[in-house]
Amino acid sequence: MTGADAVPRTGARAAVSATVSAEWRRRADGLFPGGVNSPVRAYRAVGGEPPIIVRGEGPRVWDADGVEHLDYVGAFGPLIVGHAHPRVVAAVTEQAARGGPFGATSPGEVELAERIREALPSMERLRFVSSGTEAVMSALRLARAATGRDLIAKFEGGYHGHVDSLLAQAGSGLATLALPASAGVPGSVASGTLLARYNDLAAVRALFEAYGEGIAAVIVEPVAANMGVVPPAPGFLEDLRAVTRDHGALLIFDEVITGFRVARGGAQARYGVLPDLTTLGKVIGGGLPVGAYGGRSDLMALIAPSGPVYQAGTLSGHPLAMAAGCATLDLLDADLYDRLEARSAVLEAGLREAIEGAGITASVSRVGSLLTLFFRATPPRDFDEVREADAAAFARFHAAMRDAAILLPPASQEAWFVSATHTGADIERTITAARSALQP
Ligand code: PMP
Repeated sequence: MTGADAVPRTGARAAVSATVSAEWRRRADGLFPGGVNSPVRAYRAVGGEPPIIVRGEGPRVWDADGVEHLDYVGAFGPLIVGHAHPRVVAAVTEQAARGGPFGATSPGEVELAERIREALPSMERLRFVSSGTEAVMSALRLARAATGRDLIAKFEGGYHGHVDSLLAQAGSGLATLALPASAGVPGSVASGTLLARYNDLAAVRALFEAYGEGIAAVIVEPVAANMGVVPPAPGFLEDLRAVTRDHGALLIFDEVITGFRVARGGAQARYGVLPDLTTLGKVIGGGLPVGAYGGRSDLMALIAPSGPVYQAGTLSGHPLAMAAGCATLDLLDADLYDRLEARSAVLEAGLREAIEGAGITASVSRVGSLLTLFFRATPPRDFDEVREADAAAFARFHAAMRDAAILLPPASQEAWFVSATHTGADIERTITAARSALQP
């Protein structure tokens, strides 16, 4: 297995990992490319054997050898109320007994959409799909149809799913595999995508000067979270709003990670900037496969069958996902966000102290319960600065934390996801572990 021996395993865990988990990995290796169904799970950016997880509860997961880990992967975003929250489990179980999907509208779709629109009023109308990728793909198609223009501008290090046209200078797994873009994307498709530096309005203006009337939309993660967490510079989102409006282009906020995460109303509520279209995923499905896109009702009226933009899905608005989503959103009250903010702030401060105590070059970037420790003196402001961080140092840190039974996302350019179930004691344990893991 590539990467399996990059970081030697030590102690008791090495002995057990040679048993049950190893056997599952062997079987998975024979079935899936790289042994996984999504690239980052292969641990190639950090080395070590990828875990096989059999169970989760609250902030904890258990691997196939029965080893308990404190989890900051959080399934890469959906699990803001932790693993197997009893209310989510009950909602899904009850719905499963009622059957579905039905190939017809069912009440759960209406109930979840009403909750979403209440939190994000800019989504005047919306449509459910089955993944964040699909939501983005559909929003781009709509933007092109609405403007009669073909070009899309995105930011270096921004990840918007594996949409063909957006696999250029993308973050997430693409970045940590050091692929500039994916093979198999026709040049004609990639050339419809323009790139700008995140947090650099001059770069966006330059694109509009060069391609002005051709740009259908600018798509942005309003808090970049797929190159590690990189907050928007003050005024950046406001400026993007103004520039796109001035040029007749749409502004799309990809809130697949930030929606219901950095605030109940997402980044658009946190920063007070409203896009034309929004894409959602992750939290709104409570861990089940879901995505949504929506926005101005005049734009959404272009979607079939009310308009000419085709978009459909056998499993769209799946009753199980709607049930999990509603149960999750119902848990997300102001107290919960306050608690998440407070716990995450303690984690941030503790990591900063640990960095200082160890005398190493590192920094912490955080927005709400999204956090990244960068092995770089100051928090990066764009993808170039992200790439200056020391990936080998992160790999060593990741392995040391894993030896302390703390699972961090297995790449330096991913966010850690704090959940509402991480207790003060969990956070303290994490800081204590980091203190020794960061020793040079
Ligand atoms: N947009 C953003 C901002 C994301 O973080 C992701 C996934 N990490 C996607 C889109 C794609 O979502 P999915 O993996 O559900 O297709």
